[in-house]
Amino acid sequence: MRSEIRVPRLGEVRIGDVRVAVGSGFATAPYVDVLVLGQVGQRAFAGRLHFVDKPSGRGMHRQFACPACLEPRGVLFVDGNGGIGCRRCTSRRTRRQLERTCRAFRRGGGSQEDELLRVVTGSARKPERAQALACSMIEADRARWAALQPDIQMALDIGRADHGKKK
Ligand SMILES: [Zn+2]
Repeated sequence: MRSEIRVPRLGEVRIGDVRVAVGSGFATAPYVDVLVLGQVGQRAFAGRLHFVDKPSGRGMHRQFACPACLEPRGVLFVDGNGGIGCRRCTSRRTRRQLERTCRAFRRGGGSQEDELLRVVTGSARKPERAQALACSMIEADRARWAALQPDIQMALDIGRADHGKKK
């Protein structure tokens, strides 16, 4: 059987990758020291992960012990603060799930920014869509900036008037 580790995964560590990396010592090693890089803007995790053997069929299945709940897990995720844990413990939620009710996400370009990140980094890269999103975000920023001009001008005028009074 041929196994390989594909491009480094960001934000997660999988038992299958560790099995390949550790090699023949995998079945007996009590732990592995890993560096798991975070997604953009997330802190990495550097530390020790212990293995546990989970009964599976007639044999045992090596898994990570989630450092938070100690349950056997096949995948662990960085929590963004330098820690790591299973999906439940790190309650991985997408940016859309976290921010979908925020004004900045719905109308301030957040949802486009989120999609842009996915079309440039995801497995199905879409350069045309990325370009269209980038253009529309720049245009929307310009429009918001233009819409703010009267307020900015008024604030500047008030500032000048106040400054004039003090003299
Ligand atoms: Zn856990």
